[in-house]
Amino acid sequence: MLQYLVILLDDTSVAYCHACNPLTERNLMPLDTLKKAILFGMKENLMIQYVYPDYDLPEQYEAVLESIDNVKIWGESSAATQHAALENMDVIIYNSVPDAIATKNAVLRLPIKEFIAKQYDIAALLPHVKRLNICLTDIENFNDGQIKDYSKALGTLNAVLLNLFKSGKQPQLNILTDRLQLTEMHNCGAGVSNITVAPNGKFYLCPAFYYDERTGVSNRMNHSKPSSERNVGNLDSGLDIPNQQLLKLDHAPLCRNCDAYHCNRCIWLNQKLTWDNNTPSHQQCMLAHIERNASRDLQQLLTAAEVSAGEEIKQIDYLDPFDVKKEW
Ligand code: SF4
Ligand code: SF4
Repeated sequence: MLQYLVILLDDTSVAYCHACNPLTERNLMPLDTLKKAILFGMKENLMIQYVYPDYDLPEQYEAVLESIDNVKIWGESSAATQHAALENMDVIIYNSVPDAIATKNAVLRLPIKEFIAKQYDIAALLPHVKRLNICLTDIENFNDGQIKDYSKALGTLNAVLLNLFKSGKQPQLNILTDRLQLTEMHNCGAGVSNITVAPNGKFYLCPAFYYDERTGVSNRMNHSKPSSERNVGNLDSGLDIPNQQLLKLDHAPLCRNCDAYHCNRCIWLNQKLTWDNNTPSHQQCMLAHIERNASRDLQQLLTAAEVSAGEEIKQIDYLDPFDVKKEW
């Protein structure tokens, strides 16, 4: 069931997930389109998430934007973050590791090598955040030779988390603490629990699909004609998601038997790397399982320190569910 409507206010709105935004020319969503998007969100009872560009929007947008409850996603360099009280901002996106984070909820978008290289700087941020999300921007480049270094970086963060938890603080770090709380899949949900509307008034499964359309990346999922088209309906005629069942967990044979519950299960990466929306890549599964196992390590450390740490995460002997020999 749809719960969230992501509204990209401009082509240059900040990228907040795995895909980088290649669009550099401003293209503000017309006010009428914004009003229609809000109306759609109201009718469908969706939580609105505005994704902001890095410049101030014209004054007449303010009243329209605030006509409905919303969450705001800003880039670290956006005009608003320069003159707002950062602790009151909803979500701020960083594309490098900052010296300090003033907001309670931040996303660090980093290539894997940078995440590993900056593990101690990231660890130093943990005492000051309520929630930190690590979003890797080059999952497709992950290779088995990086398993050890990635595991070690997670171990560094675990050591800091352990001390914080023991002192009564409980910061959330998506790749390590989410799995402690989850007892079932909690994935990105693009096209299922959330949908994106772009400045052109069309719907996309997530912003990454809009970027691909705008940059002419061939749509491998469109078997009828060569095209980069990715939209799944528009604000005038409504949502039109072909084969929506294929986006769902119960149609994903590997994922529905997996217990890396925190995994994003990124359908954009799936179609990019395996040409199939519901078949994950080796890279995505490996990373999610290294994190899952590091969460298990953290759980054991917390349990030994008599800190409650959720339902037991079992030991497993694989990193990619595709390697498990069993009947699906
Ligand atoms: S780790 Fe792999 S199989 Fe498990 S949920 Fe993620 S993508 Fe699916
Ligand atoms: S499908 Fe989900 S996880 Fe993947 S890039 Fe889009 S929003 Fe992010």
